[in-house]
Amino acid sequence: MSFLNSSLANLSPYVPGEQPQGKKFLKLNTNESPFPPAPSVQQAVAAKVENLQLYSDATQTKLREVFAKQAGIDKEEVMFGNGSDELLAWAFMGFMENGVIFPAISYGFYEVYAKFYHLEYEMVPLAADFSLSLAPYSGSDKVVVIANPNAPTGLSLSASKLLELVAKKPERLVIIDEAYVDFGGESLLPYIHQYDNLLVLGTFSKSRQLAGGRVGYAVGNKGLIAALNRVRFSFNPYNVNSLSLEAATAALADQTYFETCRKAIIKNRESLQEELRRLGFETTDSKANFVFVTHPKYSGKDLYQALREKNILVRWFDKPEITNYLRITIGKQEQMTQLVAALTEILEEWT
Ligand SMILES: *Cc1c(COP(=O)(O)O)cnc(C)c1O
Repeated sequence: MSFLNSSLANLSPYVPGEQPQGKKFLKLNTNESPFPPAPSVQQAVAAKVENLQLYSDATQTKLREVFAKQAGIDKEEVMFGNGSDELLAWAFMGFMENGVIFPAISYGFYEVYAKFYHLEYEMVPLAADFSLSLAPYSGSDKVVVIANPNAPTGLSLSASKLLELVAKKPERLVIIDEAYVDFGGESLLPYIHQYDNLLVLGTFSKSRQLAGGRVGYAVGNKGLIAALNRVRFSFNPYNVNSLSLEAATAALADQTYFETCRKAIIKNRESLQEELRRLGFETTDSKANFVFVTHPKYSGKDLYQALREKNILVRWFDKPEITNYLRITIGKQEQMTQLVAALTEILEEWT
């Protein structure tokens, strides 16, 4: 007998990429940074441990101030979540009485949250080349959620196209999930003062070396952020723990380290794309910290399994539209060399 509510018993939860806790695998499956947090981040966290008997700062003031100053916004225009997943969940919980519309191939959590909160939702297929036309969203009264760059395709839309959508219906909220924006996308963050119906979400997990710290941000006009804070204070005011608040503040302070890591990822992505094409793979024009690739001769599942046997984890999605694709996280140069060597071997064995 189960005590779980029937509405939840029938829900398929989000399936995260594997997180083997040993060192055995080369992990290229969950879009983390291959680089550790900056030394100053590690020091800031260590120094905060002695105050761990106290609750974290529910107002998140210090982190909000540092973030706001860098972003050129007011500190009332930003708040932080325990990962951007939490902020997404609250946005789905708080803003979507009229339903939600998002691409059918995108971040898997959108559908999970839509079901979790019993929302009316619409999933719009991507074109065959995975491009995302905004036409189907333009006239909809539902809240629009778009990841830009999109996951797992890596494709991005220009700020001007997205702003057209935002401007089209000022009474409709548009949420742009910018988890990967630092790797080559165009951020809409600078436009929150122009559009009251624009909410921008981002994370410290991908480009700030803090996936395990669980810190995400929401940026929008004061009214929107106050509304999200109402949800936060009705749920868990101490949502970001004090070590993570320190870590994120220190990560923002070290822009040089951030830039170094960001540029290394972009460079490694471009050279990996080239190597993979040389091996016969087709790739999308990814602007994220991963590539999305397919081989015309071999199935995605077989490639995934063959790499796994060589202790390399990549992400394969059991979805018909993308079943022959692999999403491969960009790592350090030597990790990319190891990946290319493994794929070269596999393809040689199979021919
Ligand atoms: C990784 C990711 C998130 C969640 O990031 P967290 O801050 O780690 O919760 C949200 N959206 C997209 C598109 C992502 O890829």
